[in-house]
Amino acid sequence: MTTIAGIRKLLTTKQASCVELARQYSDAAARENALLKAYITLTPDEALYAAAEVDAKIARGETLPPLAGVPFVLKDNISTAGLRTTCGSKMLESYVPFYDAAVWESLKAQGCVIVGKGNMDEFAMGSTNETSYFGGARNPQNTERVAGGSSGGVAAAVASGTAVFGIGSDTGGSIRQPASFCGIVGLKPTYGAVSRHGLIAYASSLDQIGPLTTSVEDAAAVFDAISARDARDMTSHGSEPVSPKLTGDVRGLKVGIAREFYESLPDDIASALDFTAKTLEKLGATLVPVEFPMLKHALPTYYILACAEASSNLGRYDGLRYGHRAESFGSLDEFIKKTRSEGFGAEVQRRILLGTYVLSAGYYDAYYNKAQLLRRAIVNDFTRLLGEVDFLLTPTAPITALKFGANLTPVETYQTDICTVPINIAGVPAVSIPCGFDRDGLPVGAQLIGAKFGEATILNAALAFERETAGSFIRLPDMGVKL
Ligand code: GLN
Repeated sequence: MTTIAGIRKLLTTKQASCVELARQYSDAAARENALLKAYITLTPDEALYAAAEVDAKIARGETLPPLAGVPFVLKDNISTAGLRTTCGSKMLESYVPFYDAAVWESLKAQGCVIVGKGNMDEFAMGSTNETSYFGGARNPQNTERVAGGSSGGVAAAVASGTAVFGIGSDTGGSIRQPASFCGIVGLKPTYGAVSRHGLIAYASSLDQIGPLTTSVEDAAAVFDAISARDARDMTSHGSEPVSPKLTGDVRGLKVGIAREFYESLPDDIASALDFTAKTLEKLGATLVPVEFPMLKHALPTYYILACAEASSNLGRYDGLRYGHRAESFGSLDEFIKKTRSEGFGAEVQRRILLGTYVLSAGYYDAYYNKAQLLRRAIVNDFTRLLGEVDFLLTPTAPITALKFGANLTPVETYQTDICTVPINIAGVPAVSIPCGFDRDGLPVGAQLIGAKFGEATILNAALAFERETAGSFIRLPDMGVKL
């Protein structure tokens, strides 16, 4: 396992050329992908091209940007001009965007080396990666287990050591939950900190792009590279750099422990969380019991709003402009119906139906409007809580990585999102860090939730914990590139 600093050292001391590194990462990704399915598309040519440019810069003695030459994986719902972007769906199986997403532009400008496009649940809808049209990614920690969702392929790529960092998207937990399942760090930034331009929309008022990494410092470095105001996303406003603010000092900070998040938690997850809280306390933070009564309303609110927005966002896939197209048909209505029935998987269709229902004239007030009111109440609850404490500590998920094919019902699957969805509803930032192992040796994630633009505070506390435990919970399998 290597960090961004590790790659930089290899390059600046000329122990390895960037082209050599790009080859090693691309080869390892291709080798491990046969089993892991972490990548939908591998991009060795693009990797070599970017790496050659970095080598040329080094040869000219130029100063390298912080992420220059670092191999990474980009979730396959982030547009890459000239490179297929499938969103994990048959609908976009052969779709090649003609423009770049803002984050991809920023990373290219830094000289990052793209290893491939990360596997994901179809249209980012799911919690296990099993809704991917290409088959779900496996968890490098235990390949009988899922990598989580929806950015599971990105998490698997990073945890297997075939990419140094990953870029995922998080609408209701899709960065944090797979990070917790695979035993790495995942940051969902404040809504608006990172431009969504070029991110294929799922639920626009909840979607946010962020990093998955093997260290807290790397998460901060990647966040700094991608957070910027972008006129093409009217909800974006960027953020101050957080890396210079990382001290790893939590003395005097108040950590809120909202009991609702801990109810009916399995013992092994509860004890990993207890250990995390005690470690922060030992480092000088104060634990404050708080209440978050709105938690019980978070799941229905999220699933109503997310499905409503998705039903509207996914309306554009009609077979007329781009994406899958039915071959034989009678009328135009029949053509669209056939295209959409063939192109979308069962979970996506379920959500479009639910979303259309809650937005329909007779039910709009009963569902959609009520969910909007609940959203406001949840936001208020967070504002109140985050005025009383500096951040909240909760589990990232009430479970660890499920077995492949566990076959939960849709509602049972939705229930596993309980700890992550309230954070998107409120638009606040949260980071998941590895904090222990369950009785089967699978990673457990702790979630630190901050106030809006409080990335520095939560990352600082995460760094304090990582340093105190000497990174001992980031125990990655022996795969990928060994440097
Ligand atoms: N599991 C959640 C869902 O299916 C979250 C997905 C996401 O964050 N993209 O909606």
